[in-house]
Amino acid sequence: MKRILVSNDDGVHAPGLHALAQAMAPLGDVTVVAPLTEQSAASHALTIHHPLRVREVGPKVLAVDGTPTDCVLLAVREFLDELPDLVVSGINQGGNMGEDVIYSGTVAAAMEGALLGIPAVAFSLASRESRDFGPAADMAARLVRALLGKSLPPRFLLNVNIPALPEDRIQGFRAAKLGSRVYEDDIVRKTDPRGRDYFWIGGADPVWSKSPDSDFQAVQDGFASITPLRLDHTAEEGYGVLAGLDLERS
Ligand code: MN
Repeated sequence: MKRILVSNDDGVHAPGLHALAQAMAPLGDVTVVAPLTEQSAASHALTIHHPLRVREVGPKVLAVDGTPTDCVLLAVREFLDELPDLVVSGINQGGNMGEDVIYSGTVAAAMEGALLGIPAVAFSLASRESRDFGPAADMAARLVRALLGKSLPPRFLLNVNIPALPEDRIQGFRAAKLGSRVYEDDIVRKTDPRGRDYFWIGGADPVWSKSPDSDFQAVQDGFASITPLRLDHTAEEGYGVLAGLDLERS
């Protein structure tokens, strides 16, 4: 029996988490460890300045009052008797494409799995509104069934975005690279009742630069995008820049 750890960033009560846990149930022994409250855009934050409490909110469902990263770390190091075979995160309410993977707590939970040496997949439903996680959960099950038992490269994860479409209108999976977000009108500046300015980040829907092989385009075309991500951020092309710098003491 494969062991599957399920987490997310929308919190332990999110419908997408339950849909994912249910979809995983026929495929393995499922444990859910998720944040007590919503942690969207928590990125890869680790809680180090206050203690973390854990609460059992259901059979094999634990809530931690921390971040997605805290959840996966504690699950693997403290709560589970053995290493899971797979970490799955989601299903997030809203897409995590392009640069969003940098801010995403959903992706971070999967990334933490990869850091701990466990194959991991992040799932997002590319809609802020649709509450129908069923088709996305079916796609998640299809992918995980294919992945379990396969050996994957170390320190590697998959980022999956599923269009909010009925099952029969999803075209299948398409391998895609991270797209690129065009930042415009995404900060709202207003005045509060006491006359002071306030700012609200993330107002507008994201706009994406057009690229035919991007995750954004795949979802637009009705496919579930799959993007392999690595943890090594080294930019090899940067060595040339460094070589050209005069770094001698003057
Ligand atoms: Mn979220």
